[in-house]
Amino acid sequence: MNLALYFHIPYCKQKCPYCDFNSYGNGMNKDFVTALKEEIGIKSKNIDQYQIGSVFFGGGTPTTLSSFQITDILNFCFNKFSIKSDCEVSIEANPGTIDYQYLKLLRNKCFNRLSLGCQSFNDDLLKKIERIHNCDEIFQSVSAARKAGFKNISLDLMFGLPGQSFDIWEETLQSATQLKPTHLSVYNLTIEKETPFYDQLRKGILILPSEGLQLKMYKRAVEYLSQAGYIHYEISNFAVKGYECRHNKVYWNNNEYVGFGPGAASYLNGTRSKNILSPEKYIETLLEKKEIPLFEKETLDQKKSMWETLMLGLRMVKGINLSDFEKRFGKTLDSEFDEKIRKLRNEHFLEYSDKKLKLTRKGILYSNEVFVELI
Ligand code: SF4
Repeated sequence: MNLALYFHIPYCKQKCPYCDFNSYGNGMNKDFVTALKEEIGIKSKNIDQYQIGSVFFGGGTPTTLSSFQITDILNFCFNKFSIKSDCEVSIEANPGTIDYQYLKLLRNKCFNRLSLGCQSFNDDLLKKIERIHNCDEIFQSVSAARKAGFKNISLDLMFGLPGQSFDIWEETLQSATQLKPTHLSVYNLTIEKETPFYDQLRKGILILPSEGLQLKMYKRAVEYLSQAGYIHYEISNFAVKGYECRHNKVYWNNNEYVGFGPGAASYLNGTRSKNILSPEKYIETLLEKKEIPLFEKETLDQKKSMWETLMLGLRMVKGINLSDFEKRFGKTLDSEFDEKIRKLRNEHFLEYSDKKLKLTRKGILYSNEVFVELI
């Protein structure tokens, strides 16, 4: 049986004003790595029958930890689990937190995929969204990563940023593709409650591109990246053939994974669970009580599990394989969600094609509306 592992490193150099992830810019707790290893030790006892196909270090900014700390965690994990020989081992990093030496150590210790949070190739925009890096540092990071031996490099980009014009967005797409990454993730800035950007937007200080312009930016990204040879395989993700993110596909296929770290989620044996968010409480629970710092847990009934499989699977451009769904649940997609699917098909948001249910081109552009309809 296959399983994916996720490690949440909740620390960043500083908190970005739009970010509502479980991340903290006020320095790392010195006991964090010890606590994380404690959690790995406890959880590994119950999942030793699995083969690990992907490992993902996300955050936060995992590269705020030293390369020694990161490789220490990975070594510990490799000793506790049965890791497949072709395991995808990814780490997220921000330009400005890595250099050649750092990356070389990671590459030597089995990391084979690097995901860089670039967001924009425009220095003014990077300043506006208070990123810690500038455009030059993106180029330096990619060059250092290549020199260190990383062939599989993904770049994250954002559109809908304050002050971003269509031309600036197109320049960012150009710069990103010139670097020839194997993978690109393209996200729309969303303004989340309880972030500084949310307050600024309410006060009228933050001006965002209109919804129409944001849609135009997304359409351009799909067109531009497809012409540049990238396969659009998920609503926000593009890859050179053979470089789709194996780890994230585990989520979209609604398959099993185990998370470690504050706020990390797991899905195992039909149960979803999540750790407590606070790094301090997480560390205290593990080191003093030697217990998993559980925040919530829910065992899904078949109906919910089918619904999640539908919601997640539709994110993938190729859609949901109808016979796989039926094999998994003993029921057809149609029999369970007939009314909603029919309505969305009539409105040309969903279609059946090649024995799959998938978003149409229109459905991809308006995926948020589709998902609201399916709730
Ligand atoms: S670097 Fe990423 S995780 Fe950290 S605060 Fe910024 S957006 Fe959030």
